Amino acid sequence: MTRIDLHCHSTASDGTLTPAELVRAGAAAGLDVMAITDHDTTGGWQAAAEACPEGLRLVRGAELSCRWLGAEDWPIALHMLAYLFDPAEPRLAADLARLRNDREQRAEKIVRKLSADGVPITWDEVYGYAAGGSVGRPHIAQALIRAGLVRTTSEAFASRWLGARYFVPKSDLDVFEAVRAVRAAGGVTVFAHPRATVRGRVVPDELIIQLADAGLFGLEADHEDHSPAERAHVRALAGDLGLVVTGSSDFHGTHKTVQLGDYLTDPEAYEKIVSAATGVPVLG
Ligand code: AMP
Ligand code: ZN
Ligand code: FE
Ligand code: FE
Repeated sequence: MTRIDLHCHSTASDGTLTPAELVRAGAAAGLDVMAITDHDTTGGWQAAAEACPEGLRLVRGAELSCRWLGAEDWPIALHMLAYLFDPAEPRLAADLARLRNDREQRAEKIVRKLSADGVPITWDEVYGYAAGGSVGRPHIAQALIRAGLVRTTSEAFASRWLGARYFVPKSDLDVFEAVRAVRAAGGVTVFAHPRATVRGRVVPDELIIQLADAGLFGLEADHEDHSPAERAHVRALAGDLGLVVTGSSDFHGTHKTVQLGDYLTDPEAYEKIVSAATGVPVLG
């Protein structure tokens, strides 16, 4: 059996394994193919490539922070996985740089709100946890854990903390612009956890139909944040629209409990993604 896990995070964003540790852990978990998909960055690509063990194929990718403005009251945030794109393509590179900058400004605002309420954490501390990678709420969670206010990352996402009371939105990238920019850079897009109602509001199927017209390539169905009914719905929709279906762990090291290879992608879907991409090759 070919074991393919197409959604994994490293310390280049909010994972806890370095890119080199991530690929070694992938091989140790018996994966044949793994993707590195850090939030809004390709910063882990080189170190992952250099450390990629014999026998593991590495798909270089990213997870783009997107928004859809079609909702009446408030934009809906969504995540777009992008695979095998040319990281030097200027427009996409500029989009990614802006998203990372946006993450820093937003995290700084959250830290200011917490400080104003007497929570003893600082921006320097949080920025230090991100260690040069894309800053995310898990790094703020780490500071809350250090301060003894919560015990786990999940607890830090409760509504009295980062989930609602101290939630600040990011501005993010228009989702149609993301699909266009990744295609223009020779990459392929897969909508990450599109039905994850546990994370908040999800987009209507109508948007997914429009995205398929705009060049979206696939939908991630098998993900820990989808219920069995949600997985079935995503599979059926992908079937209707001729999109590939993926499954992935969305591994984040110790920031989450899910393990590498807990959810997998079928080889046929993987081969279609590889065939459609022209930006950079699969390594290994
Ligand atoms: P951000 O990208 O800064 O908005 O933070 C979102 C990230 O936080 C996700 O990619 C997950 O890694 C993590 N996350 C979101 N919800 C939870 C949760 N309930 N427990 C643990 N980690 C979470
Ligand atoms: Zn994350
Ligand atoms: Fe995501
Ligand atoms: Fe992710």
